[in-house]
Amino acid sequence: MFDCYNRKINYLRISVTDRCNLRCVYCMPEDGIRMLSHSEILSFEEIAAIVRAGVAMGIDKVRLTGGEPLVRKGIVNLVEMLSSIDGIRDLSMTTNGILLGQFAVALKKAGLMRVNVSLDTLDENKYRILTRGGTLMKALEGIQAATDAGLKPVKINCVVKGSSNEPDALIVSEYCRKNGLEVRFIHQMNLSEGHFSVVEGGEGGDCAHCNRLRLTASGKIMPCLFSEREYDVRLLGAEEAFRQALKNKPSCGSMNLKGEFYNIGG
Ligand code: SAM
Ligand code: SF4
Repeated sequence: MFDCYNRKINYLRISVTDRCNLRCVYCMPEDGIRMLSHSEILSFEEIAAIVRAGVAMGIDKVRLTGGEPLVRKGIVNLVEMLSSIDGIRDLSMTTNGILLGQFAVALKKAGLMRVNVSLDTLDENKYRILTRGGTLMKALEGIQAATDAGLKPVKINCVVKGSSNEPDALIVSEYCRKNGLEVRFIHQMNLSEGHFSVVEGGEGGDCAHCNRLRLTASGKIMPCLFSEREYDVRLLGAEEAFRQALKNKPSCGSMNLKGEFYNIGG
């Protein structure tokens, strides 16, 4: 499918939950969030039906994200349901990696092709502060488990404050080089202030070539991370929600005062 600016849209990023086992300082407020209730969150059957509708319209690339996708109960079953949909040529996940040690083999078996794992520093102490309580070793074990399970490629998402030359980023870069991992540097963004930039080594942030739509955990299709526009699948039906999101995808993002990374899916 093509939007009004003749961009081919083939990529759907799905936030499967707004919950997370970490509280990264740039993503979530310290004192928690208003969590969606069970009935607000899309069921796996609903997600699969939306993906089928999307695939019929031209989606062939799907990424599961969140919140933390691996804290959603039964996530392996969802991967299995999605991987059996004909027409998806790329099925991936973005995760903080903490639970990958537990899930990597099952995810691979269920049909997940590859993962991006978020890792901003290799300093245990800084990791704990940045994630408000996370254990670096768990994330590193998760990365290793993903590699061992044959999820390929394993890419590292590294959020930088200033540049990819800052000390933590250089150390992450070296770790990736040594371990055969690809790294992408994401500049820390602020949705409500409209601060966004191109992802180094990745595709995000390049409005002219944007190929994505987003599905939130509560069933809204969003045409752009930096826009408050959203189209409710439960109200409109999946096909119409896709159509309206496509028609109203802005040429370029501006700002979003309503959402945050954890509930839209970064
Ligand atoms: N919990 C998973 C994780 O951390 O990988 C998936 C969801 S997280 C919202 C997806 C990506 O968004 C992560 O790579 C994270 O680093 C990034 N992210 C979160 N807040 C951000 C911000 N303010 N600026 C830039 N990237 C951000
Ligand atoms: Fe959780 Fe990912 Fe946000 Fe960190 S970036 S708080 S791991 S959703």
